[in-house]
Amino acid sequence: MKQVVVISGKGGTGKTSITAALAGVGPQKVIADCDVDAADLHLILDPKVKLREDFYSGQTATINTEHCIECGQCAEQCRFNAISVSFEIVKEKCEGCGLCEFICPTQAVSMTDRKCGHRFVSNTRFGTMVHAALGIGEENSGKLVTAVRKTARELAEAEKAKLVLVDGSPGIGCPVIASLTDIDFCILVAEPTVSAVHDLKRVHELARHFEVPCTAILNKCGINESLENEIRKYCRENEILILGEFPYDTTFSQAQIHGKTVAEFAPDTFGPTVRNIWSRMAKTLELPD
Ligand code: SF4
Ligand code: SF4
Repeated sequence: MKQVVVISGKGGTGKTSITAALAGVGPQKVIADCDVDAADLHLILDPKVKLREDFYSGQTATINTEHCIECGQCAEQCRFNAISVSFEIVKEKCEGCGLCEFICPTQAVSMTDRKCGHRFVSNTRFGTMVHAALGIGEENSGKLVTAVRKTARELAEAEKAKLVLVDGSPGIGCPVIASLTDIDFCILVAEPTVSAVHDLKRVHELARHFEVPCTAILNKCGINESLENEIRKYCRENEILILGEFPYDTTFSQAQIHGKTVAEFAPDTFGPTVRNIWSRMAKTLELPD
């Protein structure tokens, strides 16, 4: 079983649409949506949830008003201003450091596990999908990505699937590192804009650091020839195989509006490109074509 991640550095490059299109070709697979901060793969794949679990990470403080003598020490010492003048915990600000529990003279403070979001296992028309929703204002998305990846891998083993296809997180922070861990093959989605080229190089450096082999897909071709050539040159110099290229086209947004992949929405124009990309990737990974 192989694990492939699609990442882009910058958001809005079409990464998720391309992941969805790849989900529709090739052998049986498990799909993992690791863009947990702003998940939108579900808009295309229309998952039918069969399992929903709470996700806990870190801790948060709670003050028992019956034991609190309102001495004010906790509010004075909390460097995150997470305790209000009426000695209530402001959950969005509490970092779970435990200082208030430590200093409270009446043991009025207790620390409890913090619910940060939900993890789902769903059925889609392309196979099992593992996805998640981070609670509003919650952090620790790297841990949630790790949890999604672990569940996806276990399900793939149980289903004897040949592939885990991961829609990776944007940026180069903790969630992307969690998306890249134990990955066999990385697809970098690049668009010819200044910020995207910059972010592509940064995320490639990150993948290289973790020794993950990289390939690329060039999206939105036709909007800036000079930047497209810069991306091609960068890929050539760094031995990154370009699996395929897509033109700048409203098909991407139209397909998403209709809840379809680009290959489903425009089978004659986009279908062959997606299948060619899959074939080149399958050859590299020695997967069934
Ligand atoms: S330190 Fe304890 S007793 Fe004092 S205000 Fe905070 S919770 Fe109440
Ligand atoms: S656990 Fe830390 S951050 Fe949270 S309220 Fe207590 S002192 Fe503040």
